[in-house]
Amino acid sequence: MIITIIHISKSTLMKTKFFLLLIVSSFLFGSLSAQENDVMYVHYINVGQANAALLEFPCGAVLIDAGAQDKATTQHLIDYLDDFFARRKDLHRTLDLVYVTHCHLDHNAALAAVADSFKIVRYIDNGQQTGSGKTNQLKLEREAAARGIQYATYPYETITNGGNKKGLTNMIIDPIKCETIDPKIILYSGAFTTKPATGWTKDDFENNGNNHSLFIKVLFGKASFLFIGDGEIAEMNTVTNYYNGTDALDVDVLMVGHHGAKNATTHNFLDAVTPNYAVISCGQWDDSTSGGKFNTYNYGHPTDSALNMLAAHVPYKRSHPITVKAGLKAKTFIDVTVSKRIYATPWDGDIVIRATSDGKYRTQLSSN
Ligand SMILES: [Zn+2]
Repeated sequence: MIITIIHISKSTLMKTKFFLLLIVSSFLFGSLSAQENDVMYVHYINVGQANAALLEFPCGAVLIDAGAQDKATTQHLIDYLDDFFARRKDLHRTLDLVYVTHCHLDHNAALAAVADSFKIVRYIDNGQQTGSGKTNQLKLEREAAARGIQYATYPYETITNGGNKKGLTNMIIDPIKCETIDPKIILYSGAFTTKPATGWTKDDFENNGNNHSLFIKVLFGKASFLFIGDGEIAEMNTVTNYYNGTDALDVDVLMVGHHGAKNATTHNFLDAVTPNYAVISCGQWDDSTSGGKFNTYNYGHPTDSALNMLAAHVPYKRSHPITVKAGLKAKTFIDVTVSKRIYATPWDGDIVIRATSDGKYRTQLSSN
């Protein structure tokens, strides 16, 4: 081929080179884009006793929670996003949407740092103005217009208006539409404006922001993910009962509620979800200093009871069993062996799940 080119005229040679370059680049682009267009990643970023999950699509990015416990975990989140956008230059350091599932610091402490470091196009929170994350939440709500951010909030009653059981979606809740695939982002729960008639104490409703978490489902072809913030038994039971008989909560990958606490995982809920993978975000078991009293040691996360329940529902095994610390109760931990596909930031570090639109998954763990 090269000999042939040497023996042709210079202009023909230039044209031929250009033509060959076109063939090669279109081949490379074709294969690359064909691969990339069919793949999404969920990055469960290790922010200690807190939550932050980055959805990476072929044509955009969404952050679900911007939690952190201290300066170090805030910096890790910013560094992680910096590295991500350095790799995905096509996204221009832009988060198409940031969700905060509920108004607690471990879900929004790094919100201002994220907003100062990256472009946010849309911002959705649960609209509550109480709880440890109140200052951060109100600050971004107030600054949204000046920063060019579209702010919206959808209470449970709006999501379920008129007996709707299909969840709520629109261009703000789901702004992602790629050339060859249109992922779906759907809300199934949010803050409750009125106390549900059954199953809620006054305290569940008035003083526990966890029970007002957004429930967010992400569909990428046949791949599916669920995020439920820190929704506890009251919200979990209401939502499970409401969507009973539908596939609303049925996904492959569950981000476990409330950092693996014992009050945010039930057999009924897991029957509805039927997870193949479970991911828990919390700190190291012996972390008794970060976040003041809000640390993993004081909470006993993840709890032995939640791990046992998940192990009963998750069908597949990890590549290798792992011995970890699980909380029996606050400040009391035991050694347990996890053999199912239950991943957690304290023992797996940053957890990345790669999904293709035909519903195949691959896990990458930063601890490996
Ligand atoms: Zn939390």
